[in-house]
This record gives sequence, C-alpha cells and structure tokens, in this order.
Amino acid sequence: MKKLELPKLPYSYDALEPVISEEIMRLHHDKHHQGYVNKANAALEKLEKFRREGLDIDVRATLRDLSFNLNGHILHSIFWPNMEPPTEDNTPGGVVADKIDEFFGGFESFKKEFSMASKSVEGVGWGLLVWDSSNEQLLVVQVEKHNLAHISNSSVLLALDVWEHAYYLQYKNERGKYVDNWWKVVNWDDVDKRLSKLL
Ligand code: MN
Repeated sequence: MKKLELPKLPYSYDALEPVISEEIMRLHHDKHHQGYVNKANAALEKLEKFRREGLDIDVRATLRDLSFNLNGHILHSIFWPNMEPPTEDNTPGGVVADKIDEFFGGFESFKKEFSMASKSVEGVGWGLLVWDSSNEQLLVVQVEKHNLAHISNSSVLLALDVWEHAYYLQYKNERGKYVDNWWKVVNWDDVDKRLSKLL
C-alpha cells in the first residue's frame, strides 16, 4: 500500500500574516491536515487487510472514512500552494484571468460569486473554483465537509477552506471578514498553472 504523506508548506508558518495567523497555520497544517492523512492511511490499511487477510471490517463505514479523509487531504494539498504572502490589489493574470472574464464577466463578479458561495456554506466546507472538463467551463462549487460529489469531471483550481479551524482563532465567528481578507493571499500564478495544464 502506498502511504499518503503530509506535504510541506511552500512558505513559512507566519508568511500569510496578518491575513492568517501563524498559530492558525501551525494547528491547521500540523494537526488538522496531518489528521486527515493519518485517518486516510488507516482506512487504506484496513481495506488492504480486508482484501489480503480477510479481516472483518465494515466496508461501508471504511469507504466513508476514506472518502472524507482522502478528500480532506487532497483539498488541503491544493489550498496551501493556492496561497502566498499578502498583497493589496491582488488580481489574476495569464490564462485564468482570460477564462474568468469569459465565464464570469470579469474578476469582480467572479469574486462576488466565489465569496458568496464560501460565506454561505452551511456548517463546514469549502468554496472552490473548478474546471469542468465535461463542458469545458469554469464553475464555482460549494462543498460541505470534504464531499466532492458535486461535479465528477472537474479539477479543483482554487480552494478556500471555510471550516472553523481555518479562521476561528483569529476571526471568531466572522467568516465573512476572513473570506474578504483571504483574497489578498491568493497565489494566482499557482491557479493559472493548474488551469493551463488542463487546456
Ligand atoms: Mn482545513
């Protein structure tokens, strides 16, 4: 079985301050993301033993565990490189800027739709920008927990974590403020690279 590993952050823990505090980044990366990695590995190991040694497991529960934790791992692995140290007036360039104009009618209307989707996730989840290759289009997707069931043929380009562990220590219950500030740390080069590979 191939074990999943926690990816290193592409910057220091305090690199996103003041938008996201060092304390949040340490807990979020070292504890929460590591937890998803560990639990996904545990589920994979159980399935391996079920297949090879006939271990008696609850297949349904194990597959649900795997789906939750592996998707958590995948989304966080996109979320970290999607960010970089903050800049004011942080806007996209390259192909992704053109595609955003084409499908959303401009950056401001994209930002509005993505922000509204992220702010209104019920409970915990994610706001995503995806490339839907079935219809060759950009879409904003709202995800609850880590469930990626919505659009099967899509690749995640940009992910915003709106679980409370992503902002509560700094922003308390003000998710909206966190989302509005988050635009300053989006690494648009990374988003552009992800899209360019698919076109
Ligand atoms: Mn998270």
